[in-house]
Amino acid sequence: MSKVLIIGAGGVGRVVTFKCAMNPDVFSEIMLASRTKSKCDVIAEDAKKATGHKHITTAAVDAENVPELVKLIRSFQPELVIHVALPYQDLTIMDACLEAGVHYLDTANYEPKDEAKFEYSWQWAYQDKFKEAGLTAVLGCGFDPGVTSIFTAYAAKHHFDEIHYLDIVDANAGDHGKAFATNFNPEINIREITQKGRYYENGKWVETEPHEIWKDLNYPNIGPKRSYLIYHEELESLVKNFPTIKRARFWMTFSEEYLTHLRVIQNIGMAGIEPVKFKGVDIVPLEFLKAVLPDPGELGENYTGQTSIGCRIRGIKDGKERTYYIWNNCSHAEAYKETGAQGVSYTTGVPAMLGAKMVLTGKWGGAGVFNVEQFDPDPFLAELGPQGLPWHEQFDVDLEVD
Ligand code: NDP
Repeated sequence: MSKVLIIGAGGVGRVVTFKCAMNPDVFSEIMLASRTKSKCDVIAEDAKKATGHKHITTAAVDAENVPELVKLIRSFQPELVIHVALPYQDLTIMDACLEAGVHYLDTANYEPKDEAKFEYSWQWAYQDKFKEAGLTAVLGCGFDPGVTSIFTAYAAKHHFDEIHYLDIVDANAGDHGKAFATNFNPEINIREITQKGRYYENGKWVETEPHEIWKDLNYPNIGPKRSYLIYHEELESLVKNFPTIKRARFWMTFSEEYLTHLRVIQNIGMAGIEPVKFKGVDIVPLEFLKAVLPDPGELGENYTGQTSIGCRIRGIKDGKERTYYIWNNCSHAEAYKETGAQGVSYTTGVPAMLGAKMVLTGKWGGAGVFNVEQFDPDPFLAELGPQGLPWHEQFDVDLEVD
């Protein structure tokens, strides 16, 4: 029986709220707080109706304001804060958790607003503070990062003596019927995928032009999809925590249509994050673009198709080479039917709830800042399927990523 505070009332916040409400034995009291309280109220009412949970309250909070956050945390007294607002707020929420003495969990690493750059250094720097406070900070507990990192930890624990090659493959074979939309916060999403590509090989990071390297990969129940090498944040912690890895890459599918829109957006300067003066007002082009693009939280209704995300791994077991593929497929329509959100929000929100459950039931813990692959993967993966994201594995198959 624990109280949890969820911050961020977007698509992911909706799923986390529903999923916490579906586990009332652990999450006996839930508060959802965001910048706009009315959005929290809608989600809370929907979740109460769908699950029968009686103790879901809401609040307005500016997650960039530490004193405001501390005041809210002190008044509600949760044991843990699940942060599913934006990566810009990671550090202020971590500061508030330290001050108020509660555990912390997020799904995306810190990113400064004025620089399109994300890395763990800022949050890893909180290690001593969380250690001294005797609190747990769980970083990156969505699907990727999150489940992909836990899949890797599970492979290392049970199926390999040494992992040598890791390829994380992420396909969204869904169709939302819009000409162009992003599946999670457009500003964060466009910042992420317009960056240069980067992968790890033999102890070094190799940089590529954006979308320069691609392969046609086959995804279970989906078929072949063009997949592009991009940089993704879990690569940074995985190569540190599994030092036998010789090469680690991340592949994501994009349609030609999507990439064409993205190229136009970039070429006309709409992906810019430097403010421009417009009629005497400072406007950040990417923030303006976000305002005119479809809200990812509202893509769900007619979304068809599936996501398929997993890890393709090659390494050594008992002196012999072995290949291994572990993945989950998630249907957008089923996610929507259960929570009112599409599959990308669902695959992020379920692991965030489950990570929180692991901490609150004592299966994960310790004082300090942790990436999820540092915890025992077994209790998490034992529950992932029953909580809505069943996973599958195959041994000694063609991984298609040589
Ligand atoms: P949305 O943009 O839909 O929602 C973000 C919410 O954060 C909004 O409701 C917004 O509030 C709220 N918010 C923004 N700024 C503040 C602030 N200063 N104070 C309080 N609330 C604020 O995003 P998503 O739900 O799609 O994504 C949520 C998070 O999940 C992001 O960090 C994203 O990077 C991460 N993510 C992680 C994935 C993974 O697999 N690891 C995959 C997909 C997403 P309001 O509407 O009230 O203004």
